[in-house]
Amino acid sequence: MTESTPISKLPVAIIGSGPVGLAAAAHVIARRMEPLVFEAGATPATAVSAWGHIGLFSPWKYNIDQAARALLELTGWVEPAGDYLPTGAELVAKYLAPLAATPQLSNAIRTQTQVIAVSRVGKDRTRTPGREDTPFLLRTQNERGEILDHVVRAVIDASGTWGTPNPLGQAGLPANGENEAREAGLVTSPLPDVLGRDRAHFADRHTLVVGAGHSAANTLLALGELREAEPSTRISWAIRGTDPADVYGGGDQDGLPARGALGTRLRHLVEAGRIEVHTSVTITGLGITDRSATSADNIGQDLTGSDTASKLTVTGITPAGAVSIDVDRLVPTTGFRPDLSFLREIRLDLDPIVEAPTGLGPLIDPEHHSCGTVAPHGARLLAHPETDFYIAGMKSYGRAPTFLMATGYEQVRSIVAAIAGDQEAAERVELVLPETGVCSADIGSSCDTPSVATVTADSSGCCEPAPAVEAAEPESCCGEAGQPVSIGIPTGLEHGRSAHQEAQ
Ligand SMILES: Cc1cc2nc3c(=O)[nH]c(=O)nc-3n(C[C@H](O)[C@H](O)[C@H](O)COP(=O)(O)OP(=O)(O)OC[C@H]3O[C@@H](n4cnc5c(N)ncnc54)[C@H](O)[C@@H]3O)c2cc1C
Repeated sequence: MTESTPISKLPVAIIGSGPVGLAAAAHVIARRMEPLVFEAGATPATAVSAWGHIGLFSPWKYNIDQAARALLELTGWVEPAGDYLPTGAELVAKYLAPLAATPQLSNAIRTQTQVIAVSRVGKDRTRTPGREDTPFLLRTQNERGEILDHVVRAVIDASGTWGTPNPLGQAGLPANGENEAREAGLVTSPLPDVLGRDRAHFADRHTLVVGAGHSAANTLLALGELREAEPSTRISWAIRGTDPADVYGGGDQDGLPARGALGTRLRHLVEAGRIEVHTSVTITGLGITDRSATSADNIGQDLTGSDTASKLTVTGITPAGAVSIDVDRLVPTTGFRPDLSFLREIRLDLDPIVEAPTGLGPLIDPEHHSCGTVAPHGARLLAHPETDFYIAGMKSYGRAPTFLMATGYEQVRSIVAAIAGDQEAAERVELVLPETGVCSADIGSSCDTPSVATVTADSSGCCEPAPAVEAAEPESCCGEAGQPVSIGIPTGLEHGRSAHQEAQ
């Protein structure tokens, strides 16, 4: 493909091969266009694989895109039982990896290829004449450092937010030394596999969990379980708020019983002294105290018997004065934000608060919504001033944590229809959401994860409500889930953070 190829013959570029990026590619194929998918990681769905030990809260029947299903059915693929709650690893093994391996998609996916810039051929952001009819230019860098430019007719950015967690310092900024601590692997991923793959990094060591959401709660509970087997394991927990009880929910009286149960278990661990709580903490610095004992490279390796000296000194301020905590690992559970850095030359229209497309932002702002059910939406709501450029999937929600895969599938169905010029299909809404909203049913998740109820047309399924805190019984029709979890910042508060602050 060159710059002289007619624009309609150029491929549609898709950034990211997560569930939404791969679904977008399947829709592009269904529309007889050519997809070109770029994936920064070594394998398709790298981000989902990173949290593969986590159990999904939505069962299979809501996790499979219709165009993707059509491609898979041509291969003799057997669709998993609809009511089973898969883990992230199962989502990859039984759906995303086979999808990426279909003959139609396998040649279209470039792994270990990071998109580092998006622009228009020959036109920077300020050039307007003829812009709409000018192909896009995508610049990529592969694992060997080679930089390549690609000319494409449209761009769907489905690169997620997993790679850009919120910083630990105050005011949305990194604390002093935070970047170095992350590079050294002392600040882990937001959801490490404490009881599995990453166990050696936590067993008999001292871990500080930062954050007051349900991801924090889940990691603390996993660490508590690890401590039962490895009694020298130490657990500390730092929160910005004054009282960890805010995270416990209402216990037995909680409107969402599973959330209450999770909170109750956490409360017991704290009250038993197994978790040391630091309240009202603003983290100001992270200092590496022993560089020799660890590096980012050893994540996932067997560290049995290796040095267990504290490696990280976390400093902060509290109303009572300065605080300093020596730990081996820090688990950040402070939410995610979109990476907009490679979109500098693209004309974006983003909500100034959550960094989602302007029309979508107010519908999902965590300051005002805890579980705001956003109506299914497509190309129109997601459009930017840059014709044929879209942000879809998790990244389309910006800093808001309530994204649902099924919503992403509907987004890309509509977006691809719009790119193909089928405005009628682009405007149509094909995803049916119940009117109940995500707060109205207990699916065993916090409000900061979207609920199965959002996409449940009938409420008779055996997985509803699904247990969030305990893994489903193996003999149940929901199957055995991994560690259930809720994601993102603590918006498990009715009417969002602002209402919660007012109540306090
Ligand atoms: C722990 C957890 C549990 C969840 N459970 C559910 C659930 O049960 N049900 C549900 O509906 N939703 C769930 N979600 C929310 C959401 O559906 C998932 O995060 C989903 O993976 C989002 O899909 P995505 O394709 O938008 O992004 P991702 O899955 O994050 O995929 C983005 C991909 O883009 C790649 N990438 C990033 N930057 C670049 C770049 N510059 N160039 C090239 N490639 C790049 C990444 O490596 C990644 O593979 C969960 C999320 C988390 C974190």
